Amino acid sequence: MNMDSINSETSSSSSEGNSQKNHDKLPKSVMPLKRAMNGSESSNKMTKYNSPLQTRVASPCTLNPPIDSDGLSWPSVGARKRIEQTEEESKAREGRIAEAVKTILTELGEDTSREGLLETPERYARAMLYFTKGYEDNIRDVIKRAVFEEDHDEMVIVRDIEIYSLCEHHLVPFFGKAHIGYIPNKRVLGLSKLARLAEMYARRFQVQERLTKQIAMALSEMLRPRGVAVVIEATHMCMVSRGVQKTGSSTTTSCMLGCFREQQKTREEFLTLLGRR
Ligand SMILES: [Zn+2]
Repeated sequence: MNMDSINSETSSSSSEGNSQKNHDKLPKSVMPLKRAMNGSESSNKMTKYNSPLQTRVASPCTLNPPIDSDGLSWPSVGARKRIEQTEEESKAREGRIAEAVKTILTELGEDTSREGLLETPERYARAMLYFTKGYEDNIRDVIKRAVFEEDHDEMVIVRDIEIYSLCEHHLVPFFGKAHIGYIPNKRVLGLSKLARLAEMYARRFQVQERLTKQIAMALSEMLRPRGVAVVIEATHMCMVSRGVQKTGSSTTTSCMLGCFREQQKTREEFLTLLGRR
C-alpha cells in the first residue's frame, strides 16, 4: 500500500482539558514511522523486518504489514505458543497466571485464603485470557471467504461498534465505539467482518492510536479500496480513575487513508454521516 497516504490524527477532549498528560508519551511511536515513510528505501526496510517477532519496532503496524507472513497479524513472541498450545499447556498457563495474581494480591496486603478471594486468581486468569483472545486470531481466519466482488462504489459505514481493549501502559481497560467507513473498489467485505476485525485488534494490549491504525490498514490491505476511515472514541480507565480524576473525558483517534485523506469532501461526508459535523 502507499505509505504516503497515511494520515493519523489524535485529539483528546476533556471536561478539564489537558487530559492527554496522563497518557504518557504516546506520540513517540510516530517518529520511526515518519522516517520509514520518507525514506525511499522503506520497502527494503520492510523486508529487513522479515518477522515482527525479531524486533521491537515503535510502530509495528506500519513497519510490519497487518497481514504478515507468519499469520499472527502482528502480536508478540508469546502469541505463537498460545495459538499452538495443547489443552494441557493451556491449563498450565492458566495456573501460572493465577499464581502470579496471588502474589500481586498478597503484595497489595490481601489475605488470599479468605473466602471472597479463594478462586479469584483463577477467575482473573481466565478473564485476562478472554480479554486478550485477539492474540489467537489473525486476519486471514477472521476474514475468510467474506470478500466479495461487487460493483459498488459508494461509501460503506458501520457505526458504533463497541470495543473493549486494554491499555498496554497500565493494563486497565479502555472502551468505547469504533466507526469504520470505506469506499470499495470492486471488492466489499461482509459487514459483520468489520466488527470482527475491530474485535480482533481490540482484544490485545493496545494504545488507542495503534488500534485505530491497525484496523484501517488491515482493511486497506485486504480490499484495496478507494479509501478507508476509522474513528474511535474511547474512555480510558487509566485516565478517569487515577491521579487528578478526569471523569467524563474521552479520547478520539482517527485514521484516514486514500480518498478520505486526499479529498476533504469525502472526509466531510463521512464525518457528517457519523453525526460529528
Ligand atoms: Zn493507560
